[in-house]
Amino acid sequence: MNYTSFLIKYAEIAIKGKNRYMFEDALVRQINFALKKVQGEFSVGKTQGRVNIECMSDYDYDEVVSALSCVFGITGICPVVHVEDEGFDKLAEDVIKYIDEEYPDKNRTFKVNCRRARKNYPMDSQEVNMEMGSRILDAWPEMKVDVHNPDILLTIEIRDDKIYIYSKIIPGPGGMPVGTGGKSMLLLSGGIDSPVAGYMIAKRGVKLEAVYFHAPPYTSERAKQKVVDLARYVSKYAGPVRLHVINFTDIQLEIYEKCPHDELTIIMRRYMMRIAEHLAKENGCLSLITGESLGQVASQTMQSLAATNEVCTMPVFRPLIGFDKNEIIKISEKIDTYETSILPFEDCCTIFVAKHPVTKPNVNIIKRSETNLSETIDELFKKAVETDEVIVVS
Ligand code: ATP
Ligand code: MG
Repeated sequence: MNYTSFLIKYAEIAIKGKNRYMFEDALVRQINFALKKVQGEFSVGKTQGRVNIECMSDYDYDEVVSALSCVFGITGICPVVHVEDEGFDKLAEDVIKYIDEEYPDKNRTFKVNCRRARKNYPMDSQEVNMEMGSRILDAWPEMKVDVHNPDILLTIEIRDDKIYIYSKIIPGPGGMPVGTGGKSMLLLSGGIDSPVAGYMIAKRGVKLEAVYFHAPPYTSERAKQKVVDLARYVSKYAGPVRLHVINFTDIQLEIYEKCPHDELTIIMRRYMMRIAEHLAKENGCLSLITGESLGQVASQTMQSLAATNEVCTMPVFRPLIGFDKNEIIKISEKIDTYETSILPFEDCCTIFVAKHPVTKPNVNIIKRSETNLSETIDELFKKAVETDEVIVVS
């Protein structure tokens, strides 16, 4: 089928009143961004309270649909055929041809749904519905009308310039267009969880910035490249992501030298959160995101999370907190990050882990251990932040 445009459906519920134009503008912006990577020319615009994509040149249908499937805010994608208005008989012929191509199996129920934007069309909507219904039944007696729950809801939209025919709705990803919900700093490691966490918060309309802590020479360039690749997968949904790469080696060594080894992970995580919050503030983010899930590892017990959280004043979003690993893996497969996440490169956390880390850290004891770090750590903190490498991933 040669579709000439795509009608974009979105959930109306979230966008009452003044927010509506903001929501639609963000949606148009994100659609344009997604279509940049697709061969062909498109014109995206708002018409009559809806978002419409006109195809101005040849294009690959699957490529367009797959790009639009990554745009949050879209609930449905309707491929549309445009025909000229050359009288009702010609329209009936076009509609019958459309059904024939679109639905090879005619054993289905249908309903005609005419919308008349051009009021001087010689028939009213009800007349079009009735007459078109009977023309379709003449062509295929095996089809049946069902006005309550049809298999095919065939919409015929009569506009000023052309007549639009559509019936299919390809489900979109839902959520809110990125850019309507502020910006957040994602702690992105090379694991399975944090890319999924970023995806989930981006789905609520949040723009992402990310930070990765690496520990050369204990972690390799390949481990860093893996994180860049993960950020790229997430950016398919979230739009361009600025990734801060922080050299964490000296801080880790300092903690390793001065603090009890069973507390290493917690103290290290507290420094990650401190640095992430610092970068967040500098870059206009109002929250942090981690891939933590309750009870998954020693550093994610409730006591550990409380100890890590204690250093932040910003809200920390942990969208995976109640998820099992297999539920997280399912999403990572859906967003294509899984295969990259499981590549076996060393992680800065795994190198400095104790054999028996504390699972129920006491914040006061942790704080006391941190006093061993004193001024040196402030210097190292400053240096780590000042030497951050920013990679724009899209
Ligand atoms: P992931 O699969 O996301 O790596 P994980 O199960 O390995 O998570 P942890 O290593 O305890 O869990 O890390 C918990 C969270 O802390 C991660 O989801 C991520 O948000 C953040 N984090 C851990 N290590 C790093 C790192 N090197 N750089 C940036 N963030 C990190
Ligand atoms: Mg990890």
